[in-house]
Amino acid sequence: MGRPNSALVVEVLADDLRAGNRRALAKAITLVESTRVDHQAAAQRLLEILLPYTGAARRVGISGVPGVGKSTFIEAFGLYLISQHQRVAVLAVDPSSARSGGSILGDKTRMPQLSAAPNAFIRPSPSGGSLGGVARRTREALLVCEAAGYDVVLVETVGVGQSEYAVASMVDFFLVLMLAGAGDELQGIKKGILELADALAINKADGDNVRHADQAATEYRGALRLFRHTSASWDPPVVTVSAIENRGMDKVWSIIQDHRTRLTASGELDAKRRAQQHTWLWNMIDDGLKSHFLGRKDVRRLLPEMEAAVGNGKLTPTEAARRLLALLDEGADHPSVASRRKRSA
Ligand code: GDP
Repeated sequence: MGRPNSALVVEVLADDLRAGNRRALAKAITLVESTRVDHQAAAQRLLEILLPYTGAARRVGISGVPGVGKSTFIEAFGLYLISQHQRVAVLAVDPSSARSGGSILGDKTRMPQLSAAPNAFIRPSPSGGSLGGVARRTREALLVCEAAGYDVVLVETVGVGQSEYAVASMVDFFLVLMLAGAGDELQGIKKGILELADALAINKADGDNVRHADQAATEYRGALRLFRHTSASWDPPVVTVSAIENRGMDKVWSIIQDHRTRLTASGELDAKRRAQQHTWLWNMIDDGLKSHFLGRKDVRRLLPEMEAAVGNGKLTPTEAARRLLALLDEGADHPSVASRRKRSA
């Protein structure tokens, strides 16, 4: 991609993926996921070409602790959506498994029918990097899928830690899967997740578990009432579903549609997406500043000393940070810049 004809390559790629070529789509996502500098430049060109064709999909985040039934649900829900003439893309944000080199979506047997469906596209979690990096690549992959004409993009995340916030900040609708009959602690339920949720679905509402699931739904409705939600026009509903028996998929879809209608009418959807763009911009600036900072030789030289001084209480973190940041005022420490400066002096 870094070759001289890369501009042309990128244009052809954009045309191919917009024409529905799945290999081009996979290739485009590989490009936006790449951490190589020349690939990144090509990826940004590709995204600029694709940007006018993005924005139309339903962007849905799906979260829940391991074992709640996310893959089973996504398989059932994805197939339901396809039966409703929707094209479905599935992406994942999972920095924990990315770190261990695995991938929660790497194994196609997790969603065997959906991955075989011509109107579905399943992409494993990008491997390697911090949550910020994985989230950026998933955001960009989401735009690429939209430009490729997918109607619904499902972004899966494991229900732990910061990755939920990252996913909530890139989707229109955040669905949280829950289980009945498990203590709150067991499910890792924090106030935070209830605040993020646009709907809760109690999964495994089948067999002997139906009554428990209904009871849990009532309890969660009560719990949700205690939170002030971000939207004036939306109260997060609680439903029961059975992913394994394919039940409740229509309910979930109609909730997502209803949410879309209401937030579009109130202008909140536009506002939400604009705010997400700003968050993304600032995340990028934060990341860029930090890597620029840590890329400096003088910073790397002084850093161990400052960390030690803070660690043993000789210096406050504020003063250590001030000294490190003051290096930025001394200008670039790159040798070529320094020698240019010397020459011109
Ligand atoms: P994930 O870790 O959240 O992706 O969960 P999985 O989809 O792998 O499901 C975990 C286990 O729960 C598997 O054994 C599934 O067969 C089971 N499971 C998932 N959905 C349901 C459901 O609706 N009802 C029942 N009874 N079991 C389910």
